[in-house]
Amino acid sequence: MPSPEPPASPVSVTVGAVEHSIDVIRPQLRTRGARRVALYAGVQINGAPHVGTNVMQTAAFLLARAARDRLGVEAGLRFGALDNAPYESRTCPRTGTRYERSYHHALGPDRVGNLVKRFYGDLFDALSSATGVRYTVDTYTAQQQLPAFREEFLTSLAHWERLRWVLAPGSGHVPISFPCPQCGWLQKYGENTRLLQAGPTAARFTAVCLDHGRYDTEVRPDGGAYVGLTTLHRNLVKERAADRDDAMPVIIKGADWAAGCRLLDEAFLCFPGAVPPPRVFTPVILSESGAKLSKSLMREGKAQLTPDTAPWMLDATAWEGTVGTYAAMLRGLVSLMLTEPRHFERGYTTAELGRLVRTHGLMG
Ligand SMILES: [Zn+2]
Repeated sequence: MPSPEPPASPVSVTVGAVEHSIDVIRPQLRTRGARRVALYAGVQINGAPHVGTNVMQTAAFLLARAARDRLGVEAGLRFGALDNAPYESRTCPRTGTRYERSYHHALGPDRVGNLVKRFYGDLFDALSSATGVRYTVDTYTAQQQLPAFREEFLTSLAHWERLRWVLAPGSGHVPISFPCPQCGWLQKYGENTRLLQAGPTAARFTAVCLDHGRYDTEVRPDGGAYVGLTTLHRNLVKERAADRDDAMPVIIKGADWAAGCRLLDEAFLCFPGAVPPPRVFTPVILSESGAKLSKSLMREGKAQLTPDTAPWMLDATAWEGTVGTYAAMLRGLVSLMLTEPRHFERGYTTAELGRLVRTHGLMG
């Protein structure tokens, strides 16, 4: 019987430099003399994950195992659940200002916990027991309460004049939003949020609620307001806080993040002596047009999917077998991608994904 066709991947840029995709973390591991690494990856709770998200997460487990087995370090996995994603939105009829309320503020921590468990609990447990890699899931709400996060947020304000142009090269405007202490709604673009005073131990802001008018708020390392940040600013502060940990942070993201991460790396240069963490980009799963699978494009019916795209690729809950067989399929698929860096440093269409799953007997 002929062996199944591997992916036909072009020569990668790192050919001759990288033998396994985890090798890219070795230079910093040596420089820092780190014995432990923590891989950071994201978890979206606004709907069932598509296969692109699950491929990234499976890669995180397999990369952590490779760090342990190949580089001889202790490796754990820390997922961040984005409970700050908008759950509902309103527009002020008078000013046109957009207000949003997050999953955390609309549903509360228990229901957010249930969503994380429902979409990821069994899958992560299966991947963890197969790889021997331990994982934790922390919500953004919990992260932004930590003193390290809040101190790094205050430090970012100290470098604001330079930083804001790196985080928003188009306008230099980086919205910061604080939910209304009475109802939890916030201005998405922070039009009426003003910084009154900032220092290393506290920053005071004023903001406006659609229903409750103007309110003053304060951020301190030990408490105060819930801090709402835009994507790049939030990731910068999270990565700066993670860098204080004993375990060296390694950031795992889909390759669609590459352009944004270039800005994050540049943002690190705004802090004297800071070195950005090593990053590993995972293969993006693409529709026929070359756009990555996207929940919003699917909702709008603009995802341009080929008719042979299996329903489970768009919604993991449509997988017909057990979570165990889904985890095994993902492990087989991503292991195949990790056999050579050239199979990992590329994207896959859903059609090619389907071919690999079929020809490699991964359906279970
Ligand atoms: Zn309010």
